[in-house]
Amino acid sequence: MQTSSSSLETPSQEDPFPSSPKESPDISAWSNWRWQMRNRIRNLNDLQTFLGTRMACLSQAMASKKFPMAITPYYASLIAQADFTDPIFQMAVPQGKELFDSIHLQQDPLHEDNDMPVPGLIHRYPDRALIITTSSCAMYCRHCTRKRKAGEKRPHLSEIHLAKIKDYLENHSEIRDVIISGGDPFTLETGILEHILATIRSIPSVEILRIGTRTLVTLPMRITSRLAHMLHRYHPLWINTHFNHPQEITKESSIACSRLADAGIPLGNQSVLLRGINDNPQVMEKLCRSLIRLRVRPYYLFQCDLVNGVEHFRTSLSKGIEIMEYLRGRLSGIAIPTFVVDAPQGGGKIPVLPNYIVSTSPTHTVLRNYEGVFIAYPEPMSTSVTDKVLIHENRDQGLGGIWGLASGRTRILAPADTNHVRRFSRKRTEIAAPSTRLS
Ligand SMILES: *Cc1c(COP(=O)(O)O)cnc(C)c1O
Ligand code: SF4
Repeated sequence: MQTSSSSLETPSQEDPFPSSPKESPDISAWSNWRWQMRNRIRNLNDLQTFLGTRMACLSQAMASKKFPMAITPYYASLIAQADFTDPIFQMAVPQGKELFDSIHLQQDPLHEDNDMPVPGLIHRYPDRALIITTSSCAMYCRHCTRKRKAGEKRPHLSEIHLAKIKDYLENHSEIRDVIISGGDPFTLETGILEHILATIRSIPSVEILRIGTRTLVTLPMRITSRLAHMLHRYHPLWINTHFNHPQEITKESSIACSRLADAGIPLGNQSVLLRGINDNPQVMEKLCRSLIRLRVRPYYLFQCDLVNGVEHFRTSLSKGIEIMEYLRGRLSGIAIPTFVVDAPQGGGKIPVLPNYIVSTSPTHTVLRNYEGVFIAYPEPMSTSVTDKVLIHENRDQGLGGIWGLASGRTRILAPADTNHVRRFSRKRTEIAAPSTRLS
């Protein structure tokens, strides 16, 4: 789902989807993915014509030169308001701010080029590897981690490179999970994609295949029955997509998700936390709720990478922690993604959570829940003999706050205004002796 690496395929002069802006849509053309690809909006003038507004300025035009633009008419039709208050507009349309980089930003912040044993294959984690199959995407997201490579005319992995990748995977049987990525693999013709899948599937040590694609969001008509039927032959196959905002959930994208889910493909979502787009607990809640209705499991919520051209999209790490704090307890567990930072210097993905461990002792670990109730979790009895004596000696010193929990004197400490207290005080009137004492 990311754009390509420089070390791929010999550049081809042929653009598989040459634009022909004069074609006007009828209903069957609109729902044809090739029509959408051919008629992508490639410059600010065409965008203004499409939206019927005026808005281009010089810095925007310069930004679109530095990092190319391409927007499917479908995705552009989701723009509700033609300015940078609109999340779709912000993700698709170049802005002058892309030209101003802070000192922390880099071209290849994840140092992926260092983890490429063969061109087109990133092998960073022990048991899985990622293949860059193409540098082409249906839409060039303004926040893309590999935006430096966006739109390079390198259509897809050559036969020679695919053979080298196969060789590598055969000689590294510890790799059990292969991620077919890019760019966007679903911009490839179905036959070419099938050839890649079949090649990787033929390696006995590869257990699961994954595909990363954003076409469910930017080009949902790409998910044809024919494609779903082809994918179905390469199980176990998982797909991760990239919804960032509830405005991207449409009838078309819902149909695309159903088609893949009905083909038995587990679907996951990887969002990127973006300032002014989805850096808001309620927006994220709405997105996650919508996704599970579409049978898409929120998988990761990514901190924005330190890549050139995205400073204006970055949020502080605390924003992600705040969102995770909000989601837990309010939302089904299956709707809650893992918040991860893909660490600079090639550090890989690191999960970041609010702190749920408040304190600890040899006998108890003090946890807190989403409401701020502190609860002592007792460790197995075998570890607690000496510490029990200490507790008895200190019995007259009050409940002891958090230490009281850690030392086993108290089991729970709850603020009055919580569901927890309401639930248990109800119980107390129902049953004479409650099993948990509220302190
Ligand atoms: C993200 C990533 C993976 C997959 O990581 P998971 O946590 O298993 O989803 C594999 N390889 C590379 C290089 C990656 O960036
Ligand atoms: S779909 Fe968007 S985020 Fe994914 S690789 Fe393409 S441009 Fe980057």
